Amino acid sequence: MGLLSRGMAVSLKQDQLYIDGEFVDPATAEWFGSTDPYTGGEWVEIPAGGPADVDAAVRAAHAAVYDPDSEWAQLSPTERGQYLDDLADALEDHAERHAEMDVRDNGKPIREMRSQHESIPEYYRFYAGLADKIRGATITPDDPTKKVFTEREPIGVVGAITPWNSPLMLAAWKIAPALAAGNAVVLKPDEKTSTSALSFAAVVDDVGIPDGVINVVSGRGAEAGQALVEHGLVDKVSFTGGTETGSHIASEAGAHLKPTTMELGGKSPNIVFPDATLDNAVNGALNGIFSSVGQSCSAGSRLLLHEDIHDDFVDELCGLAADIELGDPKDPATEMGPIASREQFEKVSKYVDLGRQSEARLVHGGEPPTEDLGSDLFLQPTIFANVSNSSRIAQDEIFGPVLSVIEFADEEEAIEIANDTEYGLTAGIWTEDIRRAHRVAERIRAGRVWINNYRNSGVVAPQGGYKNSGWGVENGIEVVEEYLKTKSIWLEMDSTTENKFGPN
Ligand code: NDP
Repeated sequence: MGLLSRGMAVSLKQDQLYIDGEFVDPATAEWFGSTDPYTGGEWVEIPAGGPADVDAAVRAAHAAVYDPDSEWAQLSPTERGQYLDDLADALEDHAERHAEMDVRDNGKPIREMRSQHESIPEYYRFYAGLADKIRGATITPDDPTKKVFTEREPIGVVGAITPWNSPLMLAAWKIAPALAAGNAVVLKPDEKTSTSALSFAAVVDDVGIPDGVINVVSGRGAEAGQALVEHGLVDKVSFTGGTETGSHIASEAGAHLKPTTMELGGKSPNIVFPDATLDNAVNGALNGIFSSVGQSCSAGSRLLLHEDIHDDFVDELCGLAADIELGDPKDPATEMGPIASREQFEKVSKYVDLGRQSEARLVHGGEPPTEDLGSDLFLQPTIFANVSNSSRIAQDEIFGPVLSVIEFADEEEAIEIANDTEYGLTAGIWTEDIRRAHRVAERIRAGRVWINNYRNSGVVAPQGGYKNSGWGVENGIEVVEEYLKTKSIWLEMDSTTENKFGPN
């Protein structure tokens, strides 16, 4: 098996799974093509791992954590951290190459993917520094003859399942803290965007991370993914993706009594009050929805505008949307590429049709661009005004460049609309009134709230979903808890142990 088209130098190791420190053909002896959404052609072949491959990877990961002779289990926390630092350095060297791979797999513009890949090493460095700061507690019981303390242990084997929109970044959010806590990971990347994950495996191998600690098994969700969730030796599942798939995985994991971290969808409100600095707010609204072609869980896909500013704001926004440069995602000048796959394009188009059929007013886009941009998966930045918050385009995660503008009359109504959604991932608030900013931020039921900005994110701060956007957190020092177990140990200080059943 080989690469179908070679726009860049890539390693043949991407044709194989990475299990227990070895590059191996899938037990299924099957590969599938990964489609470049811009050219429409399959550009690389991906191994279709199946249950037997997952089983081998999970067993290797289990041995890495639990085998007393395992190199990984014997490392000091500082040594574990050193491996993460080394991985960060190596990923820095490969950032450009991985960015190009993700662009070919998911069609996001190179300018976005480049900056994403340049920031991935920071995640490994941050958790490298935390590896030796994991600590338990001493507890003072009432009985002075006892001493009690806790030890923090790795949770074990982590099954990491990631989506197609930010492939290696979202994998880093799971792998880096999991390794810092001493776990081993089996990564199942999305079948549409596995190339960079398989290349990442080659970097892991070069760095010399002990065998079995990071395994990459590409394959289909219903086969490789399902097998990972069901495997008896997987101790925890960490998933990022759509809410429907997340719900299915959480039920399966629940049936096998496995804890999960779920980072799911969103339908985030971006609220603009009339006292906001409107030039900033309009830029924030534009970036909030059209970055990543709208294919982001944190997209500001519901723009809530106060009635006093509504019309002018919408006009300004449409003017800016018209200037967005669509084109070849490999071109650094391109600001919006094609939608990531035909399936996704059809899903987004269906929502545009639903919007047209609703009482909402299509004020921009809604069609492919008029000029031929070389792919039929482009959609113009699309804006609906006068949207009712109860309509499908305001309630469903469209995951494309489609904005729903909703009008409100006062602060109370804005909060009510913002919270009237099954999701609770992120929210934006634009106002120059500091008291209002805090008041509204407190009442929004979402895991991350931005005041006078949209989309700021970084390793330092935890983020997680409320409601159907998931549970658990990623990032920050807090995420390390997701990958630890707590053992309490009772020590008897008295030198005699009484027979409680004998005669007194
Ligand atoms: P999914 O959420 O279905 O896929 C995410 C990951 O889960 C992929 O690796 C997928 O594998 C895997 N998976 C699928 N089914 C199973 C299963 N039964 N057991 C274990 N793993 C499984 O993403 P889709 O691409 O299907 O997108 C559907 C919708 O989800 C999008 O339209 C969007 O609305 C939303 N989405 C949200 C994301 C977010 O960040 N919140 C990210 C991506 C999508 P496989 O590659 O084979 O599909």
